This record gives sequence, C-alpha cells and structure tokens, in this order.
Amino acid sequence: MRVHHLNCATDCPLGGAIFDGRSLGPLGEIVGHCLLIETDAHGLVLVDTGYGLKDVAHPHRAPERIPKFFRGLLNIRLREEETAARQIEALGHRREDVRHIVLTHLDFDHAGGIEDFPGARVHVMKAEYDQATGPWDGFVQSRRYRPAQWDVVVDWRTYRAGGEGWFGFDAVRDLDGLPPEILMVPLPGHTWGHAGVAIRRADGRWLLQAGDAYFYRGEMRGARRRCTPGLRAYQTLMETHRGHRLRNQERVRRLSVEHRAEVQVICSHDPVEYERCRAGHGV
Ligand SMILES: [Zn+2]
Repeated sequence: MRVHHLNCATDCPLGGAIFDGRSLGPLGEIVGHCLLIETDAHGLVLVDTGYGLKDVAHPHRAPERIPKFFRGLLNIRLREEETAARQIEALGHRREDVRHIVLTHLDFDHAGGIEDFPGARVHVMKAEYDQATGPWDGFVQSRRYRPAQWDVVVDWRTYRAGGEGWFGFDAVRDLDGLPPEILMVPLPGHTWGHAGVAIRRADGRWLLQAGDAYFYRGEMRGARRRCTPGLRAYQTLMETHRGHRLRNQERVRRLSVEHRAEVQVICSHDPVEYERCRAGHGV
C-alpha cells in the first residue's frame, strides 16, 4: 500500500503564531491533512475529504455548506486545486477509482469532499453518524455538521468498536470491503463518534491519523503536552465531551511516546506535521 499525504483544507486564522506556533505575520495556518491510500485489490481509499468542489463553488448558498461563523473565525480559504478531487486527478487517477472513504468524523472541514466521489463507500462510527444527523443542541453543534455535504450518500457503513483491540485502544478491524491493514480506533471527545484511522505500512510500522484528537504537534511525542493558546481555545470550543477528549488525547500522547518506533501519530490540522510527511520524514 502506498500512502499519499494531501492537504485538502487551508484556514488562515487571525492570530498567527497564537494558532500555529510559527507564523511571523498576523495570519496563522491550519491544514486539512487527508490521506490517499493506493491498495492492491481495493482501489483507492481516502481518509477524510477536507473541503470539496461544491464547498468551493457555493459555500454559503442554501442549504449552507460552510457555516459563516467558522468561515470568519478560521478565515477559511476555499481553493479548487486543494480539493481531494482535483489532487487525485492530478496524480493521474480518476475520481471513480476512489472506492472507499474512511472518516475520522463528519465535521464540515472533513466531510466537504465526500460527494465528489459518488461511487465510494463511506465508513464512519455509528455514534458519529447519529450525532451528525441530529437533532442538535447548542451553537457549535448546530453548525459543525452540514448534511448538505453528505445527504446523497447511499453506501454508508457504520460501526461500533468490538473485537481485538489495538495497542490497548478499542478498534474496528473489519471495515467492510477494506483490507485488515486499515482499521478505525475510536477516540471520542471532539465528537461522540470521533475516531482515528490506523494504517499498517509495508514495513510493519503503523500510521495513526488521529484526526482532531489533538491539534498541535507539541501535544504529542514529549514528556508534557504543549499547545498554543489559539488551538487550546479552539479545541475547547469544539469539544463534545471534555473528559473523554482530554483522556483520549493523553492516551494518544502516551502511545506516541511509548511506541514511537512502531506507530507514527499525526493529526488533521498541524501544518508542520503535514510538511514533514510530504517530505517523507517522520514527525
Ligand atoms: Zn477538524
């Protein structure tokens, strides 16, 4: 299996290094780190989808695909060339070659590209599907999910954790139609059905796309968690359950320290992790 790293969502929030810990100017950078997996017998598998073609073309036409509140807060850039569809085409594939989409969760910045691959089977935790289809309460909950991004999907596969665990975590090992090297690792807290996606590479090492279980590289791989004030506040704003979120983030941090040789942990939104992956380095 070959894994490509794609950025399918760029946000430039006002605050610069207060968000990303490195920008010198007033604007920070947040990416949407998606994975494209070339499998031998199961076609292309996309992990998360960022913003899609329809988000770029008409983000605010009713029914609204990108909530204006988040568009402003995050200073979202919508670029057609960054959509998964256009990047996959640029790699020489057809959109129909994407047979599976595995989602960490259904937030608007992860689910926008789903409908650009109408032939794909969409895999998500059942708890996530249930939360995303509502009813919602509260300001954030009623804006984060945009059913217009995915309401024409016909081939949903939803899961509960069960069976053999993975490094002490619950896991979903038998994703319908996917090889055993790809599994889901439930990490609730950011949302109820939020999950990481673990991929076993040819060399036996694992890649864990931990989604929004953490947002900043300093939260992993060190003895202590470090996070910028902007991303700390954003994670709090977006959490569905604080206790689960902090506990699962700590478990992933420990995994990143204690099993560093076996598991490479990345998240959805850190630009430095993304750049290192693109360059072929470990994080
Ligand atoms: Zn996100």
